[in-house]
Amino acid sequence: MSEDDNFIQEKPFSVEIAKQGRAVCKKCRQKCVQGDLRIAKLIPNPCGSGKMKTWHHVSCIFEMFLKQRQTTKRIEGSHDVEGWELLSNDDKADILKKIKECNKAFEVKLQNKLSKKSKSSNNKGKPQLSFISLNEDSVSVSSDTNIKDGSHKDNCFREFRMIVANVSNVNGSNEKISIFHDIFAKGSDGTGFKGDVMLWCKLLLPAVIKRVFHLQTKQLIKLFSKIFHVTEESIMEHLDQSDVGQTIQYFFEQSKKCKPQKKSTLTIYEVDDFLETLTNLPKEDDQLQHFKAFMKKCTANDLKVVIRLIKHDLRMNAGAKHVFEGLHPDAYQIFKTCRDIKTVINTCWEGPPKKEKTEIGLNEKRKSIPNYFDNIKLYLEDGVPERHAEWVRYFIAYGGTVLKPSEHEQATHVLHLKDTISEPTIKCVSSARHVIVEWIKDTVAKESLQDYRPYTVRWKPSYKG
Ligand SMILES: [Zn+2]
Repeated sequence: MSEDDNFIQEKPFSVEIAKQGRAVCKKCRQKCVQGDLRIAKLIPNPCGSGKMKTWHHVSCIFEMFLKQRQTTKRIEGSHDVEGWELLSNDDKADILKKIKECNKAFEVKLQNKLSKKSKSSNNKGKPQLSFISLNEDSVSVSSDTNIKDGSHKDNCFREFRMIVANVSNVNGSNEKISIFHDIFAKGSDGTGFKGDVMLWCKLLLPAVIKRVFHLQTKQLIKLFSKIFHVTEESIMEHLDQSDVGQTIQYFFEQSKKCKPQKKSTLTIYEVDDFLETLTNLPKEDDQLQHFKAFMKKCTANDLKVVIRLIKHDLRMNAGAKHVFEGLHPDAYQIFKTCRDIKTVINTCWEGPPKKEKTEIGLNEKRKSIPNYFDNIKLYLEDGVPERHAEWVRYFIAYGGTVLKPSEHEQATHVLHLKDTISEPTIKCVSSARHVIVEWIKDTVAKESLQDYRPYTVRWKPSYKG
């Protein structure tokens, strides 16, 4: 099989009868039994070239679709699925029925959302805003208003703010990481994190997923001088002693015209929706209305942190390294190779913990990444570390050990640049297997350790010179 067959697929999903029964379903973590139908979602492979398959049971993938957002890719027809033609008529009928039910569910969801949005906008008499927020459904990655998710404490903006405050209050890097680890492992109530981990990471790293607002500090000051009925000069004067978030918080607390809420009820979804819509509002009048409506639900502290999100700086002296190392021991390594939060979470995050567990320790969490390369000690031929740096990191993430040059005698495998060698690698013991990088790529793509033999380097001595 060539590399192209493994990594390049046109369609976003793929279906087949499981040949071996070794792949694990990404949703329920049970094996996809040999002979059963299984469906893969194709995701960007963490090293940036092409796609890789994540397998699911048929019923599991459709359950997953129902929980995801409107804008996340799902199977909407047989045209989305590679391998469709090879299915039996019974299997086709079964899957088509599931597609139909799923499409129906999303249609109902969308209609509820649209009627809710246009109603609330009509009440305020702002047809222009209503047009923009309706559009948002098809363009942006804004959340659906899933009440169950939103009402969980782990999705409260107040929880988010408290974590940010705790992180900014400690100095050491490890202390910051351990605060993130605690929330992602235990959640706010100690029984396991049940929030939207993707959205948490997105909001914790406003400088990584950078939204563009049509609002510099100068415009913010002008806007809030109008909202609070104070002069721009008085805001500027206060700003000399603090950051713009804190200054606006101060004026919100003092304001008679526009009073802050006493108790925070915002969810992270509402904050995300607010910010996403704000990116679509270049005009000051629209921005003003948008802020005024939103501030009715805000405490002064809420607004401070929202302003800091707009400024892409939560002022907690922590970035991707701290957040991801708190999430999972391998997450930051993977982030460095792909720079994509979604891929990191798809690879590292197992989802909410099982009910019977009260606490998930670091070691238990680690098991969620399979150790395909357990007990494999890899010696790298000259040039390999530079040429295949990303795949070597992936090898390590999946449990392998890379030897230092001086440890060559321990090698179980040797990784070569080319599939043919003309000189023996005398440094390594004769039992070591000599393989090419495709062995690692295929193991990752097929989610099981591949037999080394098809990937063995050929020995072709050259007698010239
Ligand atoms: Zn499953």
